[in-house]
Amino acid sequence: MFSKVAIIGLGLIGGSVAAGLRQRGLAKEIVAGVRSQRTLQQGLALGYIDSGSNNLAQVVQGADLVLVTVPVSAMQATFAAMAPGLGPNTIITDGGSVKANVVAAARKALPGHLANVVPGHPIAGKEKSGVAAADGNLYEQHRVILTPMAETQPQATQTVRAMWQALGAEVLEMPADEHDKVLAETSHLPHLIAFSMVDTLARQGDSMEIFRYAAGGFRDFTRIASSDPTMWHDIFIENKEALLGATDLFIEGLAQFREHVAQADSAAMLGIMTRANSARRHFLAMSANTAYSTVQHNTEGSFMLDNNTPNPNFVVAPGGSIQGDIRLPGDKSISHRTIMLGALAEGVTQVEGFLESEDALATIQAFRDMGVVIEGPQAGRVTVHGVGLHGLTAPNRSLYMGNSGTTMRLLMGLLSGQQFDTQLTGDESLTKRPMERVAKPLREMSAVINTTDGTPPVNIHGQQALQPISYHMPMASAQVKSAIMLAGLYANGTTEVFEPAPTRDHTERMLEGFGYPVQREGNKISLQGGGKLTGCNIEVPVDISSAAFFMVAASIAPGSDLTLRHVGMNPTRTGVVDILQLMGADITISNEQSSGGEPVADLRIRYAPLKGIRIPEELVPLAIDEFPVLFVAAACAEGETILTGAAELRVKESDRIQVMADGLSAFGVEVETYSDGLRIVGQESFSGGEVESHHDHRIVMSFAMAALRATSPITIRGCATVNTSFPGFAELTAHIGLGIKVENP
Ligand code: NAP
Repeated sequence: MFSKVAIIGLGLIGGSVAAGLRQRGLAKEIVAGVRSQRTLQQGLALGYIDSGSNNLAQVVQGADLVLVTVPVSAMQATFAAMAPGLGPNTIITDGGSVKANVVAAARKALPGHLANVVPGHPIAGKEKSGVAAADGNLYEQHRVILTPMAETQPQATQTVRAMWQALGAEVLEMPADEHDKVLAETSHLPHLIAFSMVDTLARQGDSMEIFRYAAGGFRDFTRIASSDPTMWHDIFIENKEALLGATDLFIEGLAQFREHVAQADSAAMLGIMTRANSARRHFLAMSANTAYSTVQHNTEGSFMLDNNTPNPNFVVAPGGSIQGDIRLPGDKSISHRTIMLGALAEGVTQVEGFLESEDALATIQAFRDMGVVIEGPQAGRVTVHGVGLHGLTAPNRSLYMGNSGTTMRLLMGLLSGQQFDTQLTGDESLTKRPMERVAKPLREMSAVINTTDGTPPVNIHGQQALQPISYHMPMASAQVKSAIMLAGLYANGTTEVFEPAPTRDHTERMLEGFGYPVQREGNKISLQGGGKLTGCNIEVPVDISSAAFFMVAASIAPGSDLTLRHVGMNPTRTGVVDILQLMGADITISNEQSSGGEPVADLRIRYAPLKGIRIPEELVPLAIDEFPVLFVAAACAEGETILTGAAELRVKESDRIQVMADGLSAFGVEVETYSDGLRIVGQESFSGGEVESHHDHRIVMSFAMAALRATSPITIRGCATVNTSFPGFAELTAHIGLGIKVENP
């Protein structure tokens, strides 16, 4: 990779690069620029370098790469000392923990070489320093931030990036100022607090006692106070401005917290602590910036583990039958709305049976970011301290929706009527999903919404008051309807929505549950803006969409007999039951009752041979999420099943028509696709094989159930997405008879 690399400052950071390059055979010659003879001798003895000297101009001569890893305060003098030896093509990078000052030092001391200067910062380290502590694998799976300057040539950045990647690091880029601010907050401030706290307590009279009885929390929290004082002194001085800013912010927050404790203000205290509780995971998911301190000092650190959540495969053995009497997780749509409406309500909302899925957690996080105090979820229990229709506050940054299309689309309506601006972002898959069909009618209500070529990020400019509309939906969609109704809460007058076909009515039912009047006449739903929601108690019914996988499983596997308890039987959601019954499934409904305005019942499903049908188009919107698993039922039915009028399936988490058709075809099932549906010819059994999840939870669970009628195992790749709607899916299905194994690739 390099013929000659010069490392100036052969300590922990520089020595580890030398060792790493040597171990991997990436440089023909490695030369060190040293201050002390002792370090030179150690470097030679360890075999990391070929030679070295304190004459820096001589050391860098003929080098294709120079890495400077001295303290940041010594950078400028070091640059100046080596400058006379630099060739026109020598690339210069550094490892300093502060970047704006390194950029300034380079501008002063290396004016003729700026095109080749690539400032950098490896986010890795140890509590020990010096070349003796160096480790050739130090950078494996750690991050390096490069902060190229305006003058830096892209080719130079590329070379430095390739060097760090060859040492196993992940490389990010950002401007130097941003780097310093982020690091001040995530690394420098925590170190300052740890040093200060240990010192403050140690100066107390009976400090021996404090340390003797210090619980694990204190030990963990203050461990970083063992870091090298000289280096941290250097960093604090060099990043003074950003660190002072972060420290002031912290002192202000601490003073506020102190006041809440003094006043015994429970809501405010819970607000801080519940937000903090979820913030770590949230921010990791949201941004690429990893906390320096934790990565550096916490080798078993949850930060890195959280961020590298494994994406397992499911391997499902063929055949078997399903037996049991179970209660599945709560409904996703209803869980989302308990938070949204609970937040906008006056008073407290107590929720039981909340679905603790990634999607519903994204909704909780969004409302926490807008100042709502939400306790839990803990074992399905959530407490929402409502702030009223006009009580949300501006979030400090973009609201991150993860993979949740529901959260994003519904919030577009709700946020259009706020008095602040918001930006909505999401993960890679959500960023590809269409948002315009929600934005369009909202704009007719005078909302100011900008999508990015029709997809997220979505920017919303809050409006004092929205105009009511009378909207005839071109396509039946519960999300569009719900977004308009939530915007309608903020409209001057009556908002009306006309549905071309019935869609899920959870928003209407739950608004009524929260005491907000909603009129429903035929296909028209209307509400008057400016009313009031009142907090209430809700027991979330079991998600019929989750139940659908089990209804199909028990229907297709001979010998099955399964009872599902407390299943949500909202008439806008029971299309799957109707379709399966039309296909000949044996489903008995009992114990029908109402739970918070939503009908629920117990379902018993016993195996019965299915037959292919033409699916009535009026049932399509009532079963829209259940088609992937209904396609599996069709593949096991006698004769052909035809679906049309379901174009929406192509723009779900994946193109569910194509993805299911591809998978079933790979198992040997005859499938023909249409733009708005497909035709499946059922058969007694089919082969297994390997399929992709396409980051779509329902695809994973559908293919898993298909194994019950396969002749060989089915492997589904990339199944972490199941947590979107059904945490614990693999454990539960294994318990009732599916031969499912989770394998980490
Ligand atoms: P280190 O182990 O103490 O090594 C520092 C090296 O710089 C030593 O080889 C020392 O030379 C040389 N040096 C010290 N003061 C000098 C001066 N005034 N003029 C010239 N050379 C001097 O420190 P390190 O942990 O490797 O840190 C090096 C750089 O990496 C710093 O800029 C630091 O901010 C950054 N960094 C550190 C960490 C970390 O966790 N340690 C992480 C990321 C980045 P002699 O041995 O010959 O005395």
